[in-house]
Amino acid sequence: MTKKEADFDLIVLGAGSAGLGLALFMAKADMRVLLIDRTAQDVGGDCLNHGCVPSKALIHASRQVHQARQATQFGLQVSGAADMAQVMDYVQSRQAIIRHHENPDYLREQGVTVEIGTPKFVGEHEVEINGRTYRGRKLAVATGSRPKQLQLPGAERVQLYDNQHVWDLRHLPARLLVVGGGPNSVELGQAMQRLGSQVTIVHHGPRLLEHEDATISQVLEERLRAEGLTIHCNAEVVSFSSATHARVQPKEGAEFGLDFDIGYVAIGREVRFEGLQLEKAGIEVDEDGHIKLDEHLTTTNPDIVVAGDAANSLKFSHGAELHMRLLVFNFFSPIKKQLDYDHFSWVTFTDPEVAHFGLDEPELKKRARATSGGKPTSPTTTGLWLMSTATAGCCCSSRKTCSPSPARNAGFWVAPWWLPAPAS
Ligand SMILES: Cc1cc2nc3c(=O)[nH]c(=O)nc-3n(C[C@H](O)[C@H](O)[C@H](O)COP(=O)(O)OP(=O)(O)OC[C@H]3O[C@@H](n4cnc5c(N)ncnc54)[C@H](O)[C@@H]3O)c2cc1C
Repeated sequence: MTKKEADFDLIVLGAGSAGLGLALFMAKADMRVLLIDRTAQDVGGDCLNHGCVPSKALIHASRQVHQARQATQFGLQVSGAADMAQVMDYVQSRQAIIRHHENPDYLREQGVTVEIGTPKFVGEHEVEINGRTYRGRKLAVATGSRPKQLQLPGAERVQLYDNQHVWDLRHLPARLLVVGGGPNSVELGQAMQRLGSQVTIVHHGPRLLEHEDATISQVLEERLRAEGLTIHCNAEVVSFSSATHARVQPKEGAEFGLDFDIGYVAIGREVRFEGLQLEKAGIEVDEDGHIKLDEHLTTTNPDIVVAGDAANSLKFSHGAELHMRLLVFNFFSPIKKQLDYDHFSWVTFTDPEVAHFGLDEPELKKRARATSGGKPTSPTTTGLWLMSTATAGCCCSSRKTCSPSPARNAGFWVAPWWLPAPAS
């Protein structure tokens, strides 16, 4: 396809962290860009609407409440629970700030063509939306991910929320059941406990935050328990016998019952591409429904790439930005860069916060074994786990709400790891 034939230099499906970054950069570079999302409200994607921004605003509100309670030692009288309606008003006010720059009108002012609707591929370079067909020289799938659903007997009678809808809450639940033990669960669980709910976390794995070092999980778990959360690891919610009663099966021991008012489900995220007709564009998927990608994020159609959560690797906003930077570089450079997560970092915004930089110990050991062919390796310090009581933190560099703040109560718990040199 020659440039002359193409309606657009780039068509981007999905206006979340990945799609927005890609579309705006390419438009600034004077490319003709079409950006598509399902509704105008969806522009900004999960990060703005259902993820980083509302969750970090909720955490901020809960910290204020927590700190006020701690000030009772100075004679301040604080009691009761927070007013959830006001907390959510605050959350929405933070989202509104970012929406000024993440909406169709603003994007159009920046030179991006925006179409709202449900797109589908109708050819190797063609997308159909709202009855019109657009051709792109290059195309990008940036349609994000969604929360996995809890499909259990009795679930239909329970008020179950996930990260898409929990921001609609107007009343603080007296008892909140959180299902899952990853970052999303522990961040929200601690925030809700601090706001005044009695939170119980049920997690099927052996410990919270399984992607972090076991010592980190232990410290965090102790801290959460000290704040009043109840935590059941190695346990699964197996059914709901009423709207407010769950049955829980531990890996060892007898099934038990658990009373709650509402449930929050954060058991992982999945990527799905229903309705996109990937096959019409020559995009192959594997047996799990994930798009087959090479190390440049290119699909089996050399002119179609994937960015952000849709690539089904590390699901973070700054992961989407990393993809975006790689793709932009590769669009313009004759020498192609490969995707590399070796220096990737992330933070779980609990208190204490948990930061992860670079490769972890098991991965380093695996690589050392692979490269040394079983021969001794020399000691190498390559990464850091960091846990801090500080309020400092940044969830993603591009967000106004997430700028780092000076550390208060700074106390660091840092554990460098290294590959020990085996005895010669
Ligand atoms: C509770 C929570 C907290 C989080 N906190 C953080 C954090 O602190 N820091 C961090 O870095 N990350 C965080 N994340 C992760 C972050 O939100 C995601 O990794 C990021 O939003 C992914 O961006 P994306 O562009 O790939 O997808 P999305 O932001 O989900 O955007 C995808 C877009 O595609 C659109 N779309 C979907 N299907 C179609 C279709 N068929 N046609 C057209 N458009 C479509 C959607 O409407 C959406 O707007 C959090 C996630 C959650 C759930």
